[in-house]
Amino acid sequence: MAAKRQSPGIKHVPEESLHDSARLEALFASIGEGVIATDEAGTITRINKSALDLLGMREHDVLHKPFLNTVISVHDNGKPLDAFERDIVRAFQTGKSVSARRLYQKKGGALLPVYLTVSPIIYRRRPIGAIEVFRDLTSEIENDKLKSDFISIASHQLRTPLSAINMYALMLRDGLAGELTEEQLTYIRTILKSAERMNTLIDTLLNITRIEAGSIKIKVQPVRLDKLAQEMLAEFIPTARAKRLTLTAEIPATIPAIHTDNLLVKEVCANLLSNAVKYTPEGGSVYLKLAETPQEIRWTVRDTGYGIPANEQKNIFLKFFRAENILDKDVSGTGLGLYLIKNIAESLGGDLWFESAENAGSTFHFSLPKNL
Ligand code: ADP
Repeated sequence: MAAKRQSPGIKHVPEESLHDSARLEALFASIGEGVIATDEAGTITRINKSALDLLGMREHDVLHKPFLNTVISVHDNGKPLDAFERDIVRAFQTGKSVSARRLYQKKGGALLPVYLTVSPIIYRRRPIGAIEVFRDLTSEIENDKLKSDFISIASHQLRTPLSAINMYALMLRDGLAGELTEEQLTYIRTILKSAERMNTLIDTLLNITRIEAGSIKIKVQPVRLDKLAQEMLAEFIPTARAKRLTLTAEIPATIPAIHTDNLLVKEVCANLLSNAVKYTPEGGSVYLKLAETPQEIRWTVRDTGYGIPANEQKNIFLKFFRAENILDKDVSGTGLGLYLIKNIAESLGGDLWFESAENAGSTFHFSLPKNL
C-alpha cells in the first residue's frame, strides 16, 4: 500500500480520528465573534480567542473567574452596570435569550461598544450555565456617524435656500411686488405649502439623525400636559375643519404636571394628530384623550379613518414604511413620522403602540412616565 506523503512539520490527522470534544474545542476557538460560556454560578468556564482579543485579555485573566466582575459592562457615563442590570442575570432570571448594545471595558480601561446575545444553556430542563456571543460595533458606529453627519450637513444646507423661497413667496403673496391674479395666488400658495412640507421633512430628518446618534437632548422641566394637549388640538382645528372632520377631546384639567421634555412630547402628539387627520376621509372624526394612571399619563388618539391592514401592522414603525392601503389615496407622506416618534416615546421612558383595522379606524396610545 502506498503511503501518503506528508509535508514536513504538518501532522495530518484524519478527521474521523479527532475526538468529538477536541473538534468542538477547535470549532469554539475559531468562531469569529467573541464567545464566553459560564456555569450556573456565573463562573467563566470557556472563552474563545476572539473574545480574548476583543477584551484585550489573556485566558488566565478570565478563566474560572466570576463573569460579572471580569467582563465589565459600563453606562455611557463610565459607571459600571449593577448586577441586576446585567444581561446575563436577566437571561438566568427569565430563562430567555437577551440581546443588547453595551459598552464593555477592556483590560486597561478602554471602552468597546458591543452587540451581545446571552442565552441560558438548558440541559434536562435545568439551566446549567449561560453562553454569550458578542461582536465589536466600532466600525458600524463610525459608519452610522458618517451617514448621520452627511444627512445633518445636507439638511442644514437645504434650509438656507428653502427659507429664501419661503420669504419671497410670502412677499409675493402679500402683494409686495404688486397685485396678483387669483391664478397667480393659487400657484404661490402651492409653493408655500410645498416649502412648509419640505421644512417639516428636514426637521424630521435632523431629529432622526440625532435620535440615531443618541445625541437628542432631552430637556426635562415640569410640563402641564393638559395645556399642551389643548394647544396641539387648536393647531389642528383649521385642517380638520377644511376636511369636515369632527375633532373632539377629553382633556381633564386634573392631569398633574410631569417632568418631561415639552418639545419632544409636542412632536409625538403633533405626529399622531396629523396622521389621524391625514388618514381619515372627509366626514370622519378624530378624538384625543388624556388620562392618568398611577404610574403614567396616557395619550390616546383615535380616528375613524382608513386604518392599517392587519398584515402590515408589524412594519408600521419601520423607517420609510407606508401601508399599501393609503398609497392610492393621494395623501403625501414619507413613512418617517412613526419611526421617529416611537424612538422619542422610548427616549422619554414611555411607549407608543396602536390598534387598527382596515376601514375601521386606528387608535394610537402614547404613554409617558410620571417620573422620568
Ligand atoms: P407618513 O404619514 O409620512 O407616511 P408615518 O411614519 O407617520 O409616515 O406613518 C407610516 C404609515 O403608517 C403611513 O404611511 C400609513 O400607512 C400608516 N398610518 C399612520 N397613522 C395612521 C392612521 N392614523 N391611520 C391609518 N394609517 C396610518
